[in-house]
Amino acid sequence: LLRFVLGRCSHCVKICDVEEADKADVDEAVRAARAAGQRGSEWRQMDASSRGRLLHRLADLLERERAVLATLESMDTGKPFLHAFFVDLDGSIKTLRYYAGWTDKIHGKTMPVDENFVCFTKHEPVGVCGAIIPWNFPLLMFMWKIAPALACGNTVVIKPAEQTPLTALHTGALIKEAGFPPGVVNIVPGFGPTAGAAIGSHMNIDKVAFTGSTEVGQLIKAAAAKSNLKRVTLELGGKNPCIVFADSDLQSAVEETQKGAFFNQGQACTAASRVYVEEAVYDEFLRLSVERAKNIAIGDPLEPRTSHGPQINQHQFDKILELVASGKKEGATLECGGCAVEDRGLFIHPTIFSDVKDHMRIAKEEIFGPVQCIMKFKTQEEVIDRANGTQYGLTAAVFTRDIHRAMSVSAALEAGTVWVNCYNALHAQAPFGGYKMSGNGRELGEYALAEYTEVKAITLKLSERLTL
Ligand code: NAD
Repeated sequence: LLRFVLGRCSHCVKICDVEEADKADVDEAVRAARAAGQRGSEWRQMDASSRGRLLHRLADLLERERAVLATLESMDTGKPFLHAFFVDLDGSIKTLRYYAGWTDKIHGKTMPVDENFVCFTKHEPVGVCGAIIPWNFPLLMFMWKIAPALACGNTVVIKPAEQTPLTALHTGALIKEAGFPPGVVNIVPGFGPTAGAAIGSHMNIDKVAFTGSTEVGQLIKAAAAKSNLKRVTLELGGKNPCIVFADSDLQSAVEETQKGAFFNQGQACTAASRVYVEEAVYDEFLRLSVERAKNIAIGDPLEPRTSHGPQINQHQFDKILELVASGKKEGATLECGGCAVEDRGLFIHPTIFSDVKDHMRIAKEEIFGPVQCIMKFKTQEEVIDRANGTQYGLTAAVFTRDIHRAMSVSAALEAGTVWVNCYNALHAQAPFGGYKMSGNGRELGEYALAEYTEVKAITLKLSERLTL
């Protein structure tokens, strides 16, 4: 049994016990997924448009259960209820509906080959898709994985994070109720080194999609290479730069960069943890940022006015405070926060450092906590080099009123997503993924379909050339 604790208010509260899935359970889930997707099965024979209707039905059920799922998500992760209700649930429902629309629009091409042949392609399901997801957006990541996989006709074995399995398990009941055939989606709530590793190295899983740390992403890619060369897509960490030019709408830049830094208590791969501000407006930007950070409503995640809850667990809490200590030691100026909220367990005050230098650990390492590093820059060329000077390349943002500058800086930034005058603007229609060590492949949008389909070229020889 796994134990779950909730770090809200002054102490942790156990919510419930959950059965632990191990390697044997993963094997059983893979057998069920393989059988559900085999030739002649109900799922394989199903019309593409009927698959779309099932995905829409699941979206309808999420709408019906919105309050229940948001409450579960808030209790399980500590994120504010209203964030779960709007951001996580909206994103989950929209992802399902977006891919529901794709099911009968996934098709191949006809190629004008030489001589008397006809050649065309078909896009077929990859087969059994494994998925391993993290604890920061449990339901949303579940949908980012299953929706495109199911739209393309695959079957799924998915492992939620050991810290946060509750919304995944509740969704399992909704998947049944929607009418998906048995074995199409299999949920295995277990730990990483056991259930997760079993997915990565499984000989009968055809593809694995992972979201989490870069270190575990490397393990999964190695396990895939050593086992059956299964396809791998990875969504990993980030150390995402924001560049604020002096001509930007400063108030809006303060709000957007801060939402980027503190949303979900900073526990996001998109966290805007490096903010480069042009010299002329640096002092004013810093003043406004500190003023705003001090007014963030910290409290019980289930209270509607709360916008900042606790960190996920003691391990992350300790890691964040250790990095904060390193920032102070290396000479950055702590402007606000930097410590736990008194008598409130795992809460950390929104934290801002100024005078941060690129070589400091807080400027280089993913903190995964509510810590914003503010840095000064002089020229566009300088700041582009500094923004790109990281092993990561997930997201970036530019704040300016000059469209030419916005276009040229966006082109120069090494990141899978660049936001201009906004932050965390994620949409089911737009691809998401990383350059460099932030990952491989893309999720969401039409681009994700390529990750979940095999392309088959069929060539027919005609007895004679077609008369044209
Ligand atoms: P993690 O990478 O260990 O966990 C993510 C998922 O991978 C979980 O489901 C976990 O059970 C699974 N996992 C762990 N070890 C595995 C293994 N050997 N084989 C297969 N699966 C395995 O992340 P974490 O320990 O929860 O957090 C550590 C750091 O990772 C964080 O501080 C943060 O920097 C980063 N992180 C990033 C994201 C993201 O969205 N990119 C999400 C969570 C954590």
